[in-house]
Amino acid sequence: MINVDDLLDYTSFTVDREAHIVLDPAHCAACSHRYCTTTCPARCYAWSEKDRKMSFVHDGCLECGTCYAVCDSHAFARWRYPRGGFGVSYRMT
Ligand code: SF4
Ligand code: SF4
Repeated sequence: MINVDDLLDYTSFTVDREAHIVLDPAHCAACSHRYCTTTCPARCYAWSEKDRKMSFVHDGCLECGTCYAVCDSHAFARWRYPRGGFGVSYRMT
């Protein structure tokens, strides 16, 4: 059975300097669950309890849409798929 880490070995990325997801982290300090940190398969979200701050990197985004689905705080200044020619490429052979 293939797991997420194995699946990541079959992906490549053409990173767009213009982020397709832009988070407004001001929402995250007040978030009661921070489901994005536990459900994002690419671990793009990291919460620092010490700094009370969310960090987000779009580079390894798998474009699954999970963070958009689990965030009930409208925390995104932008959420869309990458521009043409950018983003993840899945290769299963
Ligand atoms: S679920 Fe939304 S508001 Fe909550 S921590 Fe994640 S991005 Fe921020
Ligand atoms: S779309 Fe998926 S992989 Fe990309 S940041 Fe959201 S949860 Fe993570």
